[in-house]
Amino acid sequence: MPPTPTPLPMPSHVPSGRGKQGQQAPQEQGNRTALVEDLMERFPHIPREAVLKEDLLRGGMAFDDSALSDTADKATGEIKPKSYFIFSFDHRTLPELGEAALRRPPEEVVLTGGPYDLSRTVVSVRVNPSSPYRVQAGEDGALGLYLDGQRIADVGLPPMPDYYRHTLANGKSVMEVAPTIQWGYLIYLTVFRVCQYFGAKEECQYCDINHNWRQHKAAGRPYTGVKPVEEVLEALQIISDHDTLGASHAYTLTGGSITSQVQGKDEADFYGQYAQAIEERFPGRWTGKVVAQALPKDDVKRFHDHGIRIYHPNFEVWDKRLFELYCPGKERYVGREEWHRRVLDSADVFGARNVIPNFVAGVEMAAPYGFDTVDDAIASTTEGLDFFMSHGITPRFTTWCPEPTTPLGKSNPQGAPLEYHIRLLDAYRSAMQRHGLSSPPGYGPAGAGRAVFSVSSFMDTLPAEEGAPVA
Ligand code: SF4
Repeated sequence: MPPTPTPLPMPSHVPSGRGKQGQQAPQEQGNRTALVEDLMERFPHIPREAVLKEDLLRGGMAFDDSALSDTADKATGEIKPKSYFIFSFDHRTLPELGEAALRRPPEEVVLTGGPYDLSRTVVSVRVNPSSPYRVQAGEDGALGLYLDGQRIADVGLPPMPDYYRHTLANGKSVMEVAPTIQWGYLIYLTVFRVCQYFGAKEECQYCDINHNWRQHKAAGRPYTGVKPVEEVLEALQIISDHDTLGASHAYTLTGGSITSQVQGKDEADFYGQYAQAIEERFPGRWTGKVVAQALPKDDVKRFHDHGIRIYHPNFEVWDKRLFELYCPGKERYVGREEWHRRVLDSADVFGARNVIPNFVAGVEMAAPYGFDTVDDAIASTTEGLDFFMSHGITPRFTTWCPEPTTPLGKSNPQGAPLEYHIRLLDAYRSAMQRHGLSSPPGYGPAGAGRAVFSVSSFMDTLPAEEGAPVA
């Protein structure tokens, strides 16, 4: 790997001479600015953009009324609204959010400038009215991100894409059927909006997919449980015709796990039918990805035969005890060891480089069962990284959002310590270096100022020189 990027100079108000790695971070509940700046200083090789992004992803951001612009109107709105593409990714339920939910916040924000001299940083929006981070208009009317009352970045909002202004023949919006995220790079096709792991004994303990479906239905929002294949194709046609910026490069087919059948199909056939239809209608137009369970090799082969090129059999959390506690359905139906075996087997089908299992970064530290120390949590996850990477498989991670209706979110509303997330970025980059791997394909460019992957800053942290070409 090339040398790590040169750290940006620290702003003048950053205290100097603070502790190095291993020393105690300022109290999580105290002055957040001090916590952030302490980590920026102790980990100068981690881009400061990534430090802020992780803090925003784990803890959310508040929106002042001045930053909300009734973006939900697809005909006249100028800002691309939050689509709730699979989970809620909010720190409050829709009724609790009130105005902030009715006047939809943007899907993402892009941060630049400010005292940390941020290069362009795309961050997925997770709404938290209690967050010390606040998006609001300054005296000049320009939007800014404020932390502890200080303006720390300029805020750009995603423009409403042309394709969102069109509707399907049945009146459904493109945003509902085929939303795009990552600044338009990825079309996110949650074609099955619920999960057949249901209830406390089966649902993953950090996942609100089923609750999110219920709350959107209760709010009277369009939220299709099973998306008809023809609707997906129609929405993709609109995107293909009206993606005037040429931003879309990949699609992800995903949804809840299927333990029995949906519409007479098992999981591989259910998700596979969409892949087959998409690749027949738009051969090679986008890079096809599937997020599904770790399935037997023959099932996985069907995805590949249909034209899917990247497979995400997410392993969720590495530690054996935590997997059993946090993913009781997966443990019962598949089992952790079998899950891992299938992940490795799928490399025979897709090639190791194109098998990219996700884990939910932060749940390792969730009370009451998680690790007590950052050291132990990082050591455990590093063991998992080494396991997969030694086989040429590159895991990736999303930053845990402690949604309030999930068991882990209820008992850990603050999420994991920020230090955990920063040290994970460090450990991840080191593990890739140890195993001679570069950034995984299908995520757009790597590097601070270039990355578009919005739900974790792992792509912001990897060296730009190693960035996979835009797929
Ligand atoms: S398998 Fe777990 S994480 Fe995936 S949708 Fe179902 S409950 Fe959520």
